[in-house]
Amino acid sequence: MTETASQYQLHSALKTYFGYDTFRGQQQEIIQNVLQKKDTLVIMPTGGGKSICFQIPAVVLEGLTLVISPLIALMKDQVDGLNANGIKASFYNSSQSSQEQQSIIEKVITKEIKLLYVAPESLSGLENLVNEKYISCVAIDEAHCISSWGHDFRPSYQQLGFLKKKLPNTPIIALTATADKATRQDIVEQLEMPQAEQFISSFDRKNIELEVRPADARAKQIVTFIKKHPGQSGIVYCLSRKNTEQIAKKLNDNGINSDCYHAGLSFEDRTRVQEDFIFDKTQVVCATVAFGMGIDKSNVRWVIHHNMPKNIEGYYQEIGRSGRDGLKAKAVLFHSYADVIQLRKFATGASNEDVQIAKLERMKQFSEATTCRRKILLSYFGELLADNCGNCDVCKNPPTFFDGSVIAQKILSTITRVDQKEATGTIIDVLRGANNANILDKGLNGVKTFGIGHEISWKDWQQYIIQLINQGICEIAFHRNNALQLTDFSEKVLFKGLKVHLTHPVYSNEKSKTPTAA
Ligand code: ADP
Ligand code: ZN
Repeated sequence: MTETASQYQLHSALKTYFGYDTFRGQQQEIIQNVLQKKDTLVIMPTGGGKSICFQIPAVVLEGLTLVISPLIALMKDQVDGLNANGIKASFYNSSQSSQEQQSIIEKVITKEIKLLYVAPESLSGLENLVNEKYISCVAIDEAHCISSWGHDFRPSYQQLGFLKKKLPNTPIIALTATADKATRQDIVEQLEMPQAEQFISSFDRKNIELEVRPADARAKQIVTFIKKHPGQSGIVYCLSRKNTEQIAKKLNDNGINSDCYHAGLSFEDRTRVQEDFIFDKTQVVCATVAFGMGIDKSNVRWVIHHNMPKNIEGYYQEIGRSGRDGLKAKAVLFHSYADVIQLRKFATGASNEDVQIAKLERMKQFSEATTCRRKILLSYFGELLADNCGNCDVCKNPPTFFDGSVIAQKILSTITRVDQKEATGTIIDVLRGANNANILDKGLNGVKTFGIGHEISWKDWQQYIIQLINQGICEIAFHRNNALQLTDFSEKVLFKGLKVHLTHPVYSNEKSKTPTAA
């Protein structure tokens, strides 16, 4: 019987193969769940320790654990690491000759290996092995790639639903660091495991101080920042290859030892840049988002975003590369409206354009927020923080608040009365009593709250709604035409007298646009 394992067995595997004495966070519960042959979804931040959640079941269970991973470039390292720890593992992908592939298939049949890493597009070559005779567990790493609501959609992931069909009694464990609610749901649906138990770790990285600055004279600000943090390792994330080169040059000109990194460099150059950074030979790497995946460096002290990332998942993942040792770290984001326009252009025409634009909008709202930024980040991942964090620029330098409970109630009751089906723009039109075609077509002029907020300007309403979203008091359903919806907090505001603190809207001097739905 391998269905359940004693505590002793699990700890001894942890110690023998990985050298650790205790499990971290929910690792042990997750592992037990898999060993009981239950489907499992793991949402854990980068560096949280996801790998052990399928590697220990792999060694405890009898047969093979199939690991689906999109990162061909990292497979060899992962497999080498396992073999060095005494766990027999291999990988199977398009970088190998057909002879190599054949010899791996034989090793599976003769049960010589415990883990096999496979790229999803190579799975078709293993058709005969996807069989309960050989396979006792399937792990799907970077599971958000399956969802077009996710930020890193990969079409090759979309065929993975066949695994449950072919292996109905085999537990599937899907793992990711970056999934909002819509993505989570999409993952379990597409993998045909709607009953999967979900283990969601806290995303709070308290040691990372969050700061957003207006983007004027960025390069100069970056130089000043680094000089104030002498000798500390850091990463400057940029939108374009050209930016990475320009900033790296500027830093070197100022006596700061730095390299640039982007997908246009040769494999050798990229490897050298990574290694020099890991071994503290280079202080700063100016990079595109290509940099950082799979890099295990614990003493990165700061991350600067020279440009705004295209969504909160990306931002969170990138800042998460700092402070992995748990010591103090800093994340500085430069916010510019020009970046927003640029990113909007990139998103236009994409197959999931609406989703991308909506996610960009959330990123922009984070950057413009006047409430605790960590609350916003965490509420994005479905986690509600009761108190302000005290470790972000807004907490440290707070704007003045007023009691906005009545405003919040007006917004929330309007959302309720339109059945949570309308986006921000329509909600505001109802509040302001606008008699436009959209409102009249939908008959929303008959809604009870129609016109109850005519004295507040359109833009101010928009700001208040953004503040409510940022505080987790209502939310945007990206996959339902960006409709505003209620959260657990809404009810407390509407019926339980929970007070809402708002700030008076402030506007940057960007040109005012015609109002559109947020
Ligand atoms: P993730 O895949 O979630 O980003 P990893 O699985 O790569 O994270 O783990 C991150 C680091 O934490 C690795 O160096 C790993 O060895 C270490 N780690 C994982 N579990 C434990 C544990 N129980 N105790 C100590 N270190 C751990
Ligand atoms: Zn805060």
